Amino acid sequence: MKPQLRRPLVAGNWKLYKTLAESVELAQAVARGVGSAGTPEVVVAPVFTALAKVGEVLAGTTLGLAAQNVFWETQGAFTGEVGPVQLTDLGCRYAIVGHSERRQYFGESDETVQRRCGALLRQNIRPILCVGETLAEREAGQAQAVVVRQLRAALKGIESEDASQVVVAYEPVWAIGTGKNALPSDAQEMHARVRATMAELYGQALAEGMRVLYGGSVKPDNAKALLAELDVDGALVGGASLAADSFCAIVAAAR
Ligand code: PEP
Repeated sequence: MKPQLRRPLVAGNWKLYKTLAESVELAQAVARGVGSAGTPEVVVAPVFTALAKVGEVLAGTTLGLAAQNVFWETQGAFTGEVGPVQLTDLGCRYAIVGHSERRQYFGESDETVQRRCGALLRQNIRPILCVGETLAEREAGQAQAVVVRQLRAALKGIESEDASQVVVAYEPVWAIGTGKNALPSDAQEMHARVRATMAELYGQALAEGMRVLYGGSVKPDNAKALLAELDVDGALVGGASLAADSFCAIVAAAR
């Protein structure tokens, strides 16, 4: 058994799946399945249009609400965007930023990820900051350099008081939605590098206290081994979060 230094966090990223009714049903099933035990912390991130209703379902449960993204301005002529104030309105505790699908398909850069992180922190919403290398970058021996660059860029200008609120999710791009998870030892190596980078930026105490999640094809059958690694403090789960039984099995593995 590893020492329980940090409270684990398991987050479900529902991506662009589920209607409103299906989201409510899934949230109810997850809430039932997780029960009242407070460890690990569990949050779900439905599509924007389901946040309000899922928030109602989760009220009074131990589960938290997360958004899948946020825009960095609080208001203005930004058609189609959703800002941090709106997320607070809906009771979001967390928001995912810098997910590789956003970087890949929606042109997000290190700079826009940094802006989103800052906007969330000003609104007291905790960013789940995604970092991770592509397969080509890993094969070229650049995995650590890429992750460290993404991390440093996203946290540029962010003071330690705020940085302590950030959760980092290491998500190797080649593992997302592919069924190929990182080896637990490879995940551990990268998580340790993330923590060491946080120590360089903000000191050892902050680095030791913050949570670093692993994401990329986490399933009930591989969760235990990944979560057993010393620096793996939880999971960001995509596909397996879309069914209550598989998501709850991953939550159970984090207990
Ligand atoms: C994700 O969307 O962040 C993710 C890790 O997806 P999957 O678990 O499906 O690989």
